[in-house]
Amino acid sequence: MRKILFASSEVHPLMKTGGLADVSASLPIALRQKGQDVRIILPAYRQCLEALSDIRTVATVKLDGFHLPIEILQSTLPDSDVTLWLLHSPQHFDRDGGAYGPNQGGDWEDNAARFALFSRAIAALAMDQVGLDWKPDILHCNDWQTGLAPALIADLPKRPATVFTIHNLAYQGLYPQAAFDALDLPTSLWHSDGLEFYDMLSFMKGGLIYSDHITTVSPTYADEICTYEYGYGLEGLLSERAKEGRLSGILNGIDNDEWNPKTDAAINKKYSAKTVLDKRENKVAIQRYFSLPEKEDTLVLGLISRLVAQKGVDLSLDAITQLLEAGENIQLVCLGSGEKSYEQDLRVLRARYPDKIGVNIGYNEALAHQIEAGADVFLMPSRFEPCGLNQLYSLRYGTLPIVRSTGGLADSVVDAYGDNLKDGLATGFKFDAATAEALEESLQRAISLFQRPRIWRKMVLTAMEQNFSWEKSSQFYLRLYDSL
Ligand code: ADP
Repeated sequence: MRKILFASSEVHPLMKTGGLADVSASLPIALRQKGQDVRIILPAYRQCLEALSDIRTVATVKLDGFHLPIEILQSTLPDSDVTLWLLHSPQHFDRDGGAYGPNQGGDWEDNAARFALFSRAIAALAMDQVGLDWKPDILHCNDWQTGLAPALIADLPKRPATVFTIHNLAYQGLYPQAAFDALDLPTSLWHSDGLEFYDMLSFMKGGLIYSDHITTVSPTYADEICTYEYGYGLEGLLSERAKEGRLSGILNGIDNDEWNPKTDAAINKKYSAKTVLDKRENKVAIQRYFSLPEKEDTLVLGLISRLVAQKGVDLSLDAITQLLEAGENIQLVCLGSGEKSYEQDLRVLRARYPDKIGVNIGYNEALAHQIEAGADVFLMPSRFEPCGLNQLYSLRYGTLPIVRSTGGLADSVVDAYGDNLKDGLATGFKFDAATAEALEESLQRAISLFQRPRIWRKMVLTAMEQNFSWEKSSQFYLRLYDSL
């Protein structure tokens, strides 16, 4: 049994802005089920304090660079027996709003201080310096918010082995040098092979340079981030680490209990591969929800996403507009929030095609399940996608994903083309170029295959048979921990 400290700034269902939260709950739970002593550390956001009932203070620590002593609270991750530690600094985390800003998109002005404090606390816990009498063998950090922790303990004797997982290289925690000075970080860390990135403080580099091993959330993304196109100037450093054998990609799993059409309480009619015809009732339900004509022969496209450029929202809008203008028999049901211009574009499209487009601007877990169950295909034309979870949920719900062939999308979907179709391996539709034309071409392929029910049904069943469980993925992490 290994002792693993798992550090993350989001953990579902306590705080979530995206896939990081899902992974930060499911992976520790899977590791726990494999008999590991895994404990999570998360900031004590207001939402966490409100959601958890059994919280107690287990330690009080003074951290370098911060005046007030900070409490460590203990609770249990809901629906599990995983110990949860919460870093309780009311001044930094007990406020209305999101994890990183007052609303989706904006940033809190004191984010550098908030996550430096978090990283310092992670480092102190990892070195068993807070009086909890528990020292991990492995410190597993996630994304830039935890990036300073591996740097802070790198040179300490008897430190745990460190793993740093990149969930999205686009967010790096970059701040002016003045932030580095204000945070009272060791000056020995300020150089170009350290935390400095072109005169800026990079939290992300802390994880990339000082951890013993870097993982990212799919094999293809692990290759992509070593290239100019996807590397954000860090491709040289990442290529070096890859050459040393210290960078690998492990595809995320999904929570097969939460995302299971057979038991999903949020959907209209539960179904499995055996009763897949019942999926139709969910299609009618979602059409009704969005006040669209309840037609079975119309191909319903689902879209659930943060509305940001990464997700190729503009490509979806352009391709769908083209298809609607050409009179294709499709409907789009869309749930998302993010950049105002995309929200507005979606509303405009809805106004223009009220019997073809359904739009819900917001965040709604239950509706996300209903769209997964009700749509025929799922749109994910991402410009880059470290892993992506929605295409995995879609496969499990027999909702065929249409994806750009990048990152985890490339690794999880088998294109309906040539031999894949003939051999019964196809599970979705893939395209390469990040253009509306390429997406439209894939959509055309989907529209014509949808008219061949036997082939379509076979694809749906093949998709539903795929196994993207954490049971499998957590095994890869365990092997990695062993190797360290
Ligand atoms: P990312 O982490 O880049 O946002 P992922 O596909 O890895 O993308 O994970 C997104 C997660 O957030 C999924 O669980 C998805 O269902 C959920 N999600 C995104 N937007 C919404 C929304 N508006 N309502 C409900 N769930 C959403």
